[in-house]
Amino acid sequence: MVPTPITVRVPAKVNLHLSVGDTRADGYHELATVFQALSMVDEVTVRSAEDSGIDVHGEGAGSVPTGPGNLAWKAVRVLAERCGRDPDAPGVQVSIHKGIPVAGGMAGGSADAAATLFGLNALWRLEIGRNELADVAAQLGSDVPFALQGGTALGTGRGERLVPVLARHTYHWVIALDQHGLETPDVYRELDRLRRGSTNNGMGNVEPMLEALASGDPRELALLLGNDLQAATVSLRPGLRRTLRAGVDAGALAGVVSGSGPTCAFLCESADSAVRVAAELSGAGVCRTVRVAQGPVHGARFVGDDRAD
Ligand code: ATP
Repeated sequence: MVPTPITVRVPAKVNLHLSVGDTRADGYHELATVFQALSMVDEVTVRSAEDSGIDVHGEGAGSVPTGPGNLAWKAVRVLAERCGRDPDAPGVQVSIHKGIPVAGGMAGGSADAAATLFGLNALWRLEIGRNELADVAAQLGSDVPFALQGGTALGTGRGERLVPVLARHTYHWVIALDQHGLETPDVYRELDRLRRGSTNNGMGNVEPMLEALASGDPRELALLLGNDLQAATVSLRPGLRRTLRAGVDAGALAGVVSGSGPTCAFLCESADSAVRVAAELSGAGVCRTVRVAQGPVHGARFVGDDRAD
């Protein structure tokens, strides 16, 4: 019997704190980051098919590879290898509906990889537990384990070693999307260039942010938002300075570049304030489009499964 297709919803992330340390022997930078999962989602359907393939729909779909360059494709291969399956007999068709901006620093590709692992675990009846699935996820990329887990979490190592963080509040965000994406490796290269000859490595201590999250006061959190990659992103895209200023002028508590950018995330005092900030920002002509989002939300889960964890 052909198994029923499985659809998984998976969130985007924003980095509330991203501190970038030295480059390691394996070429990655040492990170300390606080992720929050946002209510901007991709939906990924996995189904058995004679021939394997990927189709991508929704915003920015045209710039997403549908072959081996797609992280979801890698997820199929890596999971198949892990459980000794032939990924092409029968094959798997992966259908991705993008709601997460492509190349926007919100880990959309990582989210699709996480959703694919989560979906295939059910489609192939593998019964792999969350921890083991997180191990496979870490093989695929630094942000993939967080997309599985969701919520708010502290990430160390390359960002893949996660500890959940208590966040006592729903936070209200306005997300400003830029005209064109940025490639993450280009942003790290720019950071290395800017830091050459300097001894200043990283934003440092994450503790105050963890305390702010536990307090649940968005004004306290706003004071602590920060991203070491922001200087590099703004250096590559100087117009973002104007975007960041416009969000705060529109009434946001604070703004930060999300991950490697160029998406900017603005923390707002309340849901009403976020709607007002979004309306004003979209009229300011500083970005392609504006969305309102909340966080934290759950990590990858089946569509229709709204049970609390
Ligand atoms: P990062 O996780 O590095 O912050 P990002 O959020 O900035 O990434 P993504 O949307 O993940 O950006 O896309 C980064 C690159 O990965 C793009 O150039 C895109 O073509 C490629 N890519 C591969 N698979 C996917 C996918 N499933 N969805 C989106 N982009 C993908």
